[in-house]
Amino acid sequence: MHYEGPIYRPPSEADSLLVQATVGCPYNKCAFCMVYKKGPAFRVRLVDDIKSDLDEAREQYGAGIRTIFFPAGNTIAMPTDELAAVCVHAHAAFPHLERITVYGSSPFIHRKGLGDLKKLRRAGLTRIHVGLESGDNAVLEKIKKGTDSNEQIEAGRWVVEAGIELSEYVMIGIGGKERSREHAMNTARALNAINPDFIRIRTFLPKIGTLLLHQIRKGRFQLLSPHDALRETGEIIRNLEVTSQIASDHYTNYVNVHGRMPHDRERMLTTIGNALQMKEKMFRPAYVGNR
Ligand code: SF4
Repeated sequence: MHYEGPIYRPPSEADSLLVQATVGCPYNKCAFCMVYKKGPAFRVRLVDDIKSDLDEAREQYGAGIRTIFFPAGNTIAMPTDELAAVCVHAHAAFPHLERITVYGSSPFIHRKGLGDLKKLRRAGLTRIHVGLESGDNAVLEKIKKGTDSNEQIEAGRWVVEAGIELSEYVMIGIGGKERSREHAMNTARALNAINPDFIRIRTFLPKIGTLLLHQIRKGRFQLLSPHDALRETGEIIRNLEVTSQIASDHYTNYVNVHGRMPHDRERMLTTIGNALQMKEKMFRPAYVGNR
C-alpha cells in the first residue's frame, strides 16, 4: 500500500479500507484549511497503481471489505473514466463491498455534471462528502471557498439525482460574529434546496498557518463564543426543511446534536437549549488547531 501526503478521512470512514487515489487538493486555497497547504501538490495516481493497492489489500485483508474510502482531499476531481475504472476494480476485488466514498468540493462536482455523476454511480461510487461550509455568498467569498451558493446547490442536487449519497459539511462560526445570522439563514436555505442525505456539523476552529487565523490576530474576524455557536446551530436547525440525517461527529462541536429531520428537530433544539444553560467556561476553550 502506498500513501503520500496527509491522509484525512471522515469519522464515518473509520472502519473503511483507505486506498489513496489522489494526492493533495487541486484547489488548496480555502482560508480555514491547512491540510494540504504544505504540499505535496495535487496529482492523480496512476490507475494501475491504485488497482495494485486494491489487489494488495485483497491479499492482506481478504474479500470481506465492505467500505472503501479513496483519499485525498478532492478525489472527485479525478478524470471520470479513471475514477470509474478504480471503482469497478474495487467491486471486483471485494464482492461484498457496500460503499465507496470520496471527498469532493462543489466546483469539481459541478465540472463533472450530472451525466458523469451518473456514470460514476453505475461504476459503483456510492457516497460523496462535500464541504458546503456556508450557504452565504459573502462568507464563501471571505473564506475563499472558490464557489457560490448557486453552484453548491446545483452540484448537490446533481449528486442526489445521480443516486449517490450526499454528505454536506456545515461549519458553525465560519461567518464570525459579523455574519452569524446571515450564515445561519442562508446555510439553511441552501441545505433546504439540496436536501442531502447527511448534514454534518463542525465548529470553526482556527488552524495554524491559515489566512483566517491571521485575520483573527489582526482583529478582522471575531470568533463566536460557545453560546453564540450554539445559538447559530439552533438557528440553522430551526430553519431546515429537509429529511436529512444530522450528525455532529466532531471534536470541535460544543454539543452533540444528531437525529433525523424533521422528526428529531425538537429534541435537538432541547439539547441546545440545555447546553445554553451551562456557563461558557464549562465548554472547551478557543484554541489554535495544528491539524
Ligand atoms: S477545504 Fe477542501 S477544497 Fe478547501 S483547500 Fe481544504 S481540501 Fe481543498
